[in-house]
Amino acid sequence: MQEIRLASRPSGWPTADNFELVELPTPEPGEGQVLIRNQFMSVDPYMRGRMNDVKSYVPPFPLGAALDGGAIGQVVASHSPGVPVGATVVHGLGWRDFAVTDAAKVRVIDPAAAPTLSAYLGLLGMTGLTAYVGLLDIAQFREGDTVFVSGAAGAVGSVVGQIAKLRGAKRVIGSAGSAGKVGHLVDDLGFDAAFNYKDAPVREQLRAAAPDGIDVYFDNVGGEHLEAAIGSLNKFGRVALCGAISQYNETSAPAAPRNLALAIGKELNLRGFIVGNHGKRMPEFVEEVGGWLRAGQISAPETVVDGLANAPEAFLGLMRGENTGKMVIKISE
Ligand code: NDP
Repeated sequence: MQEIRLASRPSGWPTADNFELVELPTPEPGEGQVLIRNQFMSVDPYMRGRMNDVKSYVPPFPLGAALDGGAIGQVVASHSPGVPVGATVVHGLGWRDFAVTDAAKVRVIDPAAAPTLSAYLGLLGMTGLTAYVGLLDIAQFREGDTVFVSGAAGAVGSVVGQIAKLRGAKRVIGSAGSAGKVGHLVDDLGFDAAFNYKDAPVREQLRAAAPDGIDVYFDNVGGEHLEAAIGSLNKFGRVALCGAISQYNETSAPAAPRNLALAIGKELNLRGFIVGNHGKRMPEFVEEVGGWLRAGQISAPETVVDGLANAPEAFLGLMRGENTGKMVIKISE
């Protein structure tokens, strides 16, 4: 088997040298365990935080050990009657082609119930749940709201915008980092307006796209985006603080937002959240989003990179905006 280990900790932007591909004998499953042949694995922005040796809501990756993260694969050996050979499972041991884990730690899924197997790592997985919980529970979205989402062409952002439209938003605006992504948001995903945040200050472009202000901001980016959103939010506006990817590779403190005091007079509600603490919403999420998917009302864009050895490059590409939709790595057929 092959696995990818953390070889060194980055300072600022990570590079390929921070990762190491290692070959090992394929392990045998013990009592109550299964051996899984991984087919897809996920790379996610939160993994950048885990490369640092700092205390956070998830522990740092240990140096010299395999990284981990969401994966999907097929059981090829089993010492657990509940998870037989041939079952397709979602689990937490990505960054390797074969994984041994306790059967209790895997979730058996029906591969026929989604358009692609990898959708279980994106729209129908943690990504989709993040969008659902962040928009509906944290930002308390209401029909008729004008919604702004940053990182809109990415995995979470593309789902946020689509759910807002399906739930009756008055207007949905997205920001992304290229003209191609801006076109995709409006033409393919049904956003009412979108802009490239690299073209001009976010504050100006957001004001032009939302002349009557916004009611909800779903923040994937932080910094200048958050400052612009605070400026455009209407009275009693709501913000889901989901991520701050503009900060993850910075070594100094962010300059923005400088206008947080506006939140007082506007009586804004800004609330952070971690999706892992909202698993109880999974049944409603699967029912509603799964229904939209079956009806062809929601799409699950993804960028697929081939081969485990290319996972570090895919992760670095995610940080640079090379993905549209969910970034996944195909490890085997
Ligand atoms: P994405 O698929 O959105 O990929 C990351 C995207 O971030 C890139 O494609 C890039 O797109 C954009 N980006 C990179 N640098 C910048 C920058 N400086 N300014 C603006 N955009 C930038 O990732 P996810 O959908 O998986 O994650 C989105 C956010 O949600 C992240 O901040 C992540 O940490 C957070 N998250 C939080 C969770 C929670 O529980 N709170 C759970 C899951 C994700 P572009 O080309 O547009 O620049």
